[in-house]
Amino acid sequence: VSEQHTQVAIVGGGVVGCAVAHALALRGVIATVLEAEPALALGASATNSGILHTGFDSTPGQLETQLILRAAQLREELLEELRVDSWACGARLTPGNDDERQAVAKLAENAKRNRVPVELGDDGSLVVPGETVSDPVAYLHMLAGAAKGGGATIRLDARVCGLSGGGREGIALELADGDRLHTSAAVNCAGLFADEVARMAGEEIVEIYPRKGELIVFAMPSEAPLQEILLPVPSVLGKGVLVFPTLDRRHVIAGPTAREREDKLDWSVESDARDLILERATRMYPPLARAEMVGAYAGLRPAGRGANYVIERSLAIDGLVHVAAIRSTGLSASLAIGEHVAGMLADTGSIELGPVRTLRPPADSAPDGLWWEHAAMHRRP
Ligand SMILES: Cc1cc2nc3c(=O)[nH]c(=O)nc-3n(C[C@H](O)[C@H](O)[C@H](O)COP(=O)(O)OP(=O)(O)OC[C@H]3O[C@@H](n4cnc5c(N)ncnc54)[C@H](O)[C@@H]3O)c2cc1C
Repeated sequence: VSEQHTQVAIVGGGVVGCAVAHALALRGVIATVLEAEPALALGASATNSGILHTGFDSTPGQLETQLILRAAQLREELLEELRVDSWACGARLTPGNDDERQAVAKLAENAKRNRVPVELGDDGSLVVPGETVSDPVAYLHMLAGAAKGGGATIRLDARVCGLSGGGREGIALELADGDRLHTSAAVNCAGLFADEVARMAGEEIVEIYPRKGELIVFAMPSEAPLQEILLPVPSVLGKGVLVFPTLDRRHVIAGPTAREREDKLDWSVESDARDLILERATRMYPPLARAEMVGAYAGLRPAGRGANYVIERSLAIDGLVHVAAIRSTGLSASLAIGEHVAGMLADTGSIELGPVRTLRPPADSAPDGLWWEHAAMHRRP
């Protein structure tokens, strides 16, 4: 059992927590990331679609949209600095009838309002050249590697189970192994468990529930290799099932589903997922019907009951910021979430930001292997 001090404690080593640690390190502030699991990237951040969205379809004015658009500005320079590999293969939406044609035309208008370049074709299809595929596990590890290079500490097997104090006396965090950490600021980036971490501080924030998304991985069909992301025309049910090539160009992934669930620990792919996904995906990309299925995975979106992107100062503990309900676009917005939270902490007076510097992660920061297998391989049985 030990007593330690750090400038900022970050609860959760998902893409949000690592992006906050990175944004702070860029500005000379040393953080400690406390991750409950034995490895980084075992939550939603590793089990998503890995797409860096442009924000063309996001509702103008919302915080989520502002952060996606800001992240898209930061991306070019920072991804290069972070040595993150990505492929701006672009995305296409193809309407199947007049209603869908109208819906796509509306999306083109929306993109204009968000100042995202798109091309509306004579056939009613919409191309979004900036939509980009990535390896989300490598992305997260490069952020963490760069933050470490700037002085941050990443602690694994470090489950936070208590939070107290605040103000001049500082915040105390208790870990499950009995260690205590003292800090002047803390950020709750606990994903699915952000509501439970807030409760440790004596506070009720938005309720977080898992919205399950299953995806199926196929070998790339050699007769018609997919070179772009195929997006469905959106309905009230959300973005829907998409089909996209992977960064290695050797696989095609179709999904995700969107199922409201209760169990925050159930990462299983349900028995009807393949049929549900294939039914919609083959309409967009017929070669999938004959493609070889090589894998499947499920992610749990940290969805807020009635709220999205809840980024706010704690009312119970001075110097604590909650970053909760980052449901469906956290990977895309992460660089801007980090910047935004660093600014909030500085505004509370609990830290002082220095000038932005350059931090390059070691080239070997990311684990080997196929990213969609990472979480299932490393999660505790
Ligand atoms: C199927 C699916 C597809 C998606 N597709 C995309 C996409 O294409 N593009 C995009 O931008 N976004 C996408 N998203 C959304 C994106 O994955 C999430 O917004 C993002 O991963 C949320 O990150 P997070 O860090 O908040 O959560 P998480 O990755 O879940 O991280 C939270 C971490 O906190 C840790 N933790 C919890 N409690 C404690 C505790 N008490 N102490 C210490 N640590 C704790 C957990 O172990 C976990 O590692 C998708 C999500 C899903 C599920």
